[in-house]
Amino acid sequence: MELKNNVYKIQGINVKDIAKEFGTPLYVYDAEKIINQLQTLKNAFSNQNVKIKYAAKALTNVSILKLMKKHGAGVDVVSAQEADLALKAGFDPKDILFTPNCVSFDEIQEGVEKGLVINIDNISILEQFGHKYRDTVPCCVRLNPHIMAGGNTKISTGHVDSKFGISIYQLPHLLRVIKSNHIDVVGLHMHTGSDILDADVFLKMAEILFGIAQDFPNLQFVDFGSGFKVGYKPGDITTNIYDLGVKLGKAFDDFCNNYGRKLEMWFEPGKYLVSEAGLFLAKVNVIKTTPATAFVGVDSGMNHLLRPMMYDAYHEIVNVSNPNGIQRVYTVVGYICETDTFGWDRKIHEVREGDLLAIKNAGAYGFSMASNYNSRYRPAEILVYSGKAHLIRERENMEDILRKQVEIDLE
Ligand SMILES: *Cc1c(COP(=O)(O)O)cnc(C)c1O
Repeated sequence: MELKNNVYKIQGINVKDIAKEFGTPLYVYDAEKIINQLQTLKNAFSNQNVKIKYAAKALTNVSILKLMKKHGAGVDVVSAQEADLALKAGFDPKDILFTPNCVSFDEIQEGVEKGLVINIDNISILEQFGHKYRDTVPCCVRLNPHIMAGGNTKISTGHVDSKFGISIYQLPHLLRVIKSNHIDVVGLHMHTGSDILDADVFLKMAEILFGIAQDFPNLQFVDFGSGFKVGYKPGDITTNIYDLGVKLGKAFDDFCNNYGRKLEMWFEPGKYLVSEAGLFLAKVNVIKTTPATAFVGVDSGMNHLLRPMMYDAYHEIVNVSNPNGIQRVYTVVGYICETDTFGWDRKIHEVREGDLLAIKNAGAYGFSMASNYNSRYRPAEILVYSGKAHLIRERENMEDILRKQVEIDLE
């Protein structure tokens, strides 16, 4: 979204017009921004045989998945249901990496039957996999390097207390299981968390992986996961993708020389691809001034955008209706019967009842974490593509709330 002549626009379309046409609350995604992010990542690793597997859980709308596919990405899914969505979007099963955590062996088998690339994250399941498939179905293993990384403990997955991955300290056991069951391991995977800042964290992770990789002779790829940090507010430090491309690229080249073969380099970004492309639009219902605070109450809440409440995430909030008003300090809250605060003490251009607010960086883990709490409808989703606003999900209604409820007769 950009401000031009005092009007906020996406691909030339007035954001207010989008809200007028489709109503609020509303998720709006800019396809151009998604495509740019994808391209930037590819460019940064253009010296490598790089494969981008979009982490679908960030934003699972089928039209978004189709956009990713059209622009050359594969996809990383964490459940059989996400896999079905990816298949519906037209992905070849071979381009779908299945990275579930703590699922039953039944769900792993379901993944095999769908033809997905299976990523296994514990030794118990790996043993069952080996008993059943031996070397007839190749797989990838998810390792845990025990590096503390990520912006928030809830989104760090590589540390020693994390439930994710197979500990690198279990390597001898892991290798015995693989050898005795003749398991064909074609990929090594690590994902140490979201919001990792540093190229050096990736490098440290990579060195650990490279050290281990020598024990796996059949590798076709190494998957470095994700964790690319995006800017949530002006001045935020973000991952320097080009710096990472140079440093990791060089380390990977050296590794491949030692290994004896050029391998594919995989990444599975979610946030990096879709976060900044998304806006969440909400209308101001009421301005409520207490002795301490000027509250702005909007027609949404934690049911639609949970990140501020769940992760203390900062999302910039702008007043689309009054870009020239004087700036005042507000606390922006939702309408849910909980303390659901989108932002404390924010300087926003003067807010009036009826104004349209835009909450930025709402593309990732926005709609995909939305719920019907308080029996509210989940919002509609819009994709701005080729200069036109397309409805890609209808707003819910009472039928949706009641759809799976079964009313019994209490006579
Ligand atoms: C969530 C997840 C990602 C994406 O993380 P982002 O921080 O959104 O880029 C990648 N890989 C796996 C296995 C994940 O669970």
